[in-house]
Amino acid sequence: MSDDNEQKCIICRQTFHPYPMGEKNGTILLSCKACGTVMTEPLVTKDELDAYFASIDPQITHVPDPAREIVDMKNRIMRLGKDATAKGKRIIDVAARQGYAIKAAHLLGMKPYGIDSHEFFTRFAQEKYPPELFQNISVMEYADASPEKYDCGIAIEAFCEQPDPDAFVAGLARIIKPGGTMYIEEVDGNNFNLPRNFANWSYVDPPLNFLYLSKKGMEALLARHGFAIQKMFFTWRPMMRFIAVRR
Ligand SMILES: [Zn+2]
Repeated sequence: MSDDNEQKCIICRQTFHPYPMGEKNGTILLSCKACGTVMTEPLVTKDELDAYFASIDPQITHVPDPAREIVDMKNRIMRLGKDATAKGKRIIDVAARQGYAIKAAHLLGMKPYGIDSHEFFTRFAQEKYPPELFQNISVMEYADASPEKYDCGIAIEAFCEQPDPDAFVAGLARIIKPGGTMYIEEVDGNNFNLPRNFANWSYVDPPLNFLYLSKKGMEALLARHGFAIQKMFFTWRPMMRFIAVRR
C-alpha cells in the first residue's frame, strides 16, 4: 500500500528523501536524493517574493558592457538553429530582464517579445528599447491572456526563481508551438564543479533565487509538460545550457 502522506519531490516526483545542504540568508537548503535538485525549505512563495521586492524597490541599471551582452544573447539565440531563428520567426524571452535578448533577436530580424514578472525590469527595458516589445507579466498569466504562439523561446536563469515550477513549465508549453524549441540556461544544482559547501556558492541567494535544478530534475519537470531535451551544451561552469523541444 502506498502512503498518501509520503512527501514527493516537487521536481522529480519521486519520494522525497531530503539531504541537508546547509543554510543561506537564514534559509534551510535541502537536496532531493533522487534527482539532486537543491531547494529552500520551504520553497519561497509568490506572496513572499512580492513582499520582498516591494520592500527593496530595486533600481535597475545596464550591465557594465551592454553591447557585449547583446552579442552573447545573439549567440545564445542562434544555438536554436537556422530555421528557428530565420527572419520573421517569433521568439519570446520569458525572463527578459534589461531586454538584451530582445534587442539581439531584433537585430537578427526576428519578431521578438519579452515578458518579465518583475515590473522594475520591464520598466527599464521599455525605457531603453521599443516599449511595445515588453510586458510585465508572468508566463502563467501571459499563457492565459494571449492566444499568441511562438516558434521559439529563451529562458535564462528563470527556473531558479519560480515558486510554482510546474505552473511555469505548463505556461511555457502553452506559448511555444508544437515542434517549437527553447534555449534554456540555468544553474546546475548538482554540478561536479560546485563548491564542496553548497551554501558557500556565491550564486545561492534566497529569496532572489531558491531553486537549483539538477539535469535529472530538469528533464523530469520538462517531460511532465511535453518538453524533451534535444541538445545539451557542455560547459565547465556549474550551469546547464540546452535546447528543449516542445513535442
Ligand atoms: Zn527530486
